[in-house]
Amino acid sequence: MVSASERIRVVNRVTVVSAGTNCILAIGKILVGLLGRSSALVADGVHSVSDIGTTLIAFVGIRMSTKESDEDHPYGHEKIEAALTKIVATLLFITAVYICIQSYHGVRTPADTPPDAITLWVALISLGMKELLFRYTMRGAKKIQSNAMRADAWHNRSDALSSLASFIGILGARFGVGVLDPIMGMAIGVYLAKLAIQIYIESFQELIDTAADKSVVRRIRGYIATTEGVGGIDSLKTRRHGNRIFVDVEISVDGTLSLFEAHHIAAEVHQGIEEVFQEVKHCMVHVNPREVHPREEHPPPVS
Ligand SMILES: [Zn+2]
Ligand SMILES: [Zn+2]
Ligand SMILES: [Zn+2]
Repeated sequence: MVSASERIRVVNRVTVVSAGTNCILAIGKILVGLLGRSSALVADGVHSVSDIGTTLIAFVGIRMSTKESDEDHPYGHEKIEAALTKIVATLLFITAVYICIQSYHGVRTPADTPPDAITLWVALISLGMKELLFRYTMRGAKKIQSNAMRADAWHNRSDALSSLASFIGILGARFGVGVLDPIMGMAIGVYLAKLAIQIYIESFQELIDTAADKSVVRRIRGYIATTEGVGGIDSLKTRRHGNRIFVDVEISVDGTLSLFEAHHIAAEVHQGIEEVFQEVKHCMVHVNPREVHPREEHPPPVS
């Protein structure tokens, strides 16, 4: 885990580079696409405009989720990123449907004049720039462990592929296979729609308290079990909270220990987990007395 200030620094940098690149691409593609008569290139350009919006939403989400917890949100703001990632995914889906509809009209009435050669070059340049942007954004996403930025990065990779598709489509149109251009456009649309649904489901899972990865849970369990004084783990629950994890554990300790001693063991588990597993935001420890109530997690209330 990187510090909050480092996180903000990375997201600022990636956002400026990403929005700037997409701005150049959007203007270039729409202009050349219109002048050079390529429906695939115009669709790609419109998509680049939506890319700027996507990056900005991811930016806002990451910035807001980095805020310290406050009175209104005592558990922190991490889920804001997941909630906004759903909007990013929805926008991507709408874009995908739009591209499909546009291309469908193109299949029914293919243009008689093939696209100009310059449209080929634009598609090729776009392919290269988007691939570089993918790698750049992905590096940032890994560094700050952000799903919103990761989604945005994959979006760039899919855009690189869609530029490749436009390239093939335009090439086909120039060699007399005019219908190839809109068909490639439709393929791009379907691909993007699938990606959008995937990202949506992922952020949805972060919002419904899905458990942490099995390997992480296993390591957490191992750490707690080997903490001195812990006699057993009665229950261990984890839930994702944006890119962080909350842990709730019930440990059993020797029932004859004093409250001071039992608390010391619980504190060791609490602090140890949060130190070793940086992604854990908080580890709540509940202590059960062993031997005294061996069959129950909680003793029945005394009336
Ligand atoms: Zn895009
Ligand atoms: Zn708040
Ligand atoms: Zn804590």
